[in-house]
Amino acid sequence: MPAWWLFLSVLLLCRPCFSARSAPGSVTVITVDASNATWRDFSRFLDAGKGSHVHGMSDLKRYFNRFGYLPVPNSNFTDVFDNDFESAIVAYQTNLGLAVTGQLDSETISAVMSPRCGVRDTDPSGAGEGARSLRRYAYFAGRPRWDRPAPATLSYALSPEYTVGYLSPEDVRAVFRRSFARWSAVIPVNFVEAEVYGEADIRIGFYRGDHGDGEPFDGVLGVLAHAFSPEDGRVHFDAAERWAVDFKAERAKAAVDLESVATHEIGHALGLAHSSVREAVMYPSLKPRTRKVELRIDDVEGVQALYGSNPNFRLSSLLESESSKNGGVGGGRGLEWRWFAWSTWLVALVDLMLPWWL
Ligand SMILES: [Zn+2]
Ligand SMILES: [Zn+2]
Repeated sequence: MPAWWLFLSVLLLCRPCFSARSAPGSVTVITVDASNATWRDFSRFLDAGKGSHVHGMSDLKRYFNRFGYLPVPNSNFTDVFDNDFESAIVAYQTNLGLAVTGQLDSETISAVMSPRCGVRDTDPSGAGEGARSLRRYAYFAGRPRWDRPAPATLSYALSPEYTVGYLSPEDVRAVFRRSFARWSAVIPVNFVEAEVYGEADIRIGFYRGDHGDGEPFDGVLGVLAHAFSPEDGRVHFDAAERWAVDFKAERAKAAVDLESVATHEIGHALGLAHSSVREAVMYPSLKPRTRKVELRIDDVEGVQALYGSNPNFRLSSLLESESSKNGGVGGGRGLEWRWFAWSTWLVALVDLMLPWWL
């Protein structure tokens, strides 16, 4: 334990020394890095209390606004921790399955700083099905789905133009084949790869910064990807991430598993919004170097309520596999979870800082 703390302290102390080194050459990328630095800066709001006035808290409010928890104010966001902000924190903690304290505790700040999907967690107006109190799967407002008679066939294609050069096209195609197959195993929908990109129902590409849909990407980590609800079909990945198809070959600390994010974004393209179940594929955040590709009961129930079940799918087998994964819970569970929460916080902090520091 002391070694962890020493390492963390050294990182924290070194941080200002290296800020000049991260300044890149082009104007676009400087904006991008400034945005990511803001997410890392959120650590300084740890334990800021209601009524407090902390310089820069308006940036944290903009984060909550961006992901659907705070409406746009009449004037600018202030630096004051007010009632509206407390309500936003409560809604965020509820939606992300965190302890609901209404405070900027370490678990909440850690969640806020984690890389995540760019799709909003709730409808910012506070209305619609997005704003819910149930801790489980959710849909977009109006519950849109692909309106095709079952068994439906949806086509998808990878942009031949917007790609990442360091991954082989075959590897990327294999990742998407597997990701689509996980969803088609549970619902009566087949996915086929289209020959012409522009004619596909679901169109996938890797984009940098502002790419014309009003949802600019922000460089390394921060927002990883986003997708539009049915029947739009656009699925976008941030080309600035270090996407990995195999962690044995890709050693970068900030590498993000393409298959995990692809499976998540396809869930959006099918009509699922974010789940508050942490183990679910549709949970909004994913740490670097983490793989989360298997659909959980929450994901399956959510998508089957939209499309029905694949006749070959048996929920009981998934129930058995999940109960065995969660089995063996004994008296030490509270301690385990507390340690898990702390270690997650530390690992997330170190993971976020390393790429910037190096
Ligand atoms: Zn998402
Ligand atoms: Zn986009």
